[in-house]
Amino acid sequence: MVSFIGAGPGDPELLTIRGKKIIDRADVIIYAGSLVNPQVLADVKEGAVIYNSATMNLDEVIQVMKDAEAAGLKVARVHTGDPAIYGAHREQMDRLDELGIEYEIVPGVSSFLATAAVLKKEYTLPGVSQTVILTRMEGRTPMPPKEKLLDLAQHNATMIIFLSVGMLEEMSQILRQAYRPETPAAVVYKATWEDQKIVYGDLTNIAERVRAAGIKKTALTVVGDFLGNEYELSKLYDKTFTTEFRKGVAE
Ligand code: SAH
Repeated sequence: MVSFIGAGPGDPELLTIRGKKIIDRADVIIYAGSLVNPQVLADVKEGAVIYNSATMNLDEVIQVMKDAEAAGLKVARVHTGDPAIYGAHREQMDRLDELGIEYEIVPGVSSFLATAAVLKKEYTLPGVSQTVILTRMEGRTPMPPKEKLLDLAQHNATMIIFLSVGMLEEMSQILRQAYRPETPAAVVYKATWEDQKIVYGDLTNIAERVRAAGIKKTALTVVGDFLGNEYELSKLYDKTFTTEFRKGVAE
């Protein structure tokens, strides 16, 4: 059995209880060493074999899983955040399907949710944005033709950009063509890690501020008026509004 585990954004306390139990009982652990906090592996059992997938290709990862399975060992495949977001997760599951190896997935706290938490913000403010776009800039992985940043930006929705902080200059230049230039933006480096950094600005100055802070990777860029202070109060907690669970009072 292979267990894919979302290790969360960094702070080892943000690993799920189920994920922790599986990691601590696993015989073989394959973790994404470039981003998973090694403290997540602090209580692995004695004799557990640990592989860092940063230096392995897909064939090598699958081979380790296959050998472990043949020996009746339990494998924990530990991904950063949640494996469903830029996790290169599907290709592993498909190979396991072909091999007839069973697997399960334990979700994790994605870095985009940890980012909202450390910013103390809500992505979906009434009257501001009710849509969240998770995307990236084109790098070595090309963007599908209908998902160019400029096209996505037309909605002026809350936008969260992964894997792209090294291209912030170009990113803000594109975003300024669709959002107001003074739309607030923030960059969160290593959310929930001890060396976390937050840089605030808007689309005219965020790139320069992030450069000055020396941030080049492991950061998310978030853009939108959800970072501002104007919004409508929710209907959910509006005292004059009747919901399924609560009767509204007359004003
Ligand atoms: N599966 C992961 C994302 C993997 S892609 C998740 O759910 O979070 C790797 C990118 O995620 C990084 O380049 C960075 O943009 C972002 N990232 C991962 N961990 C982060 C953290 N703790 N703080 C900020 N960004 C992070």
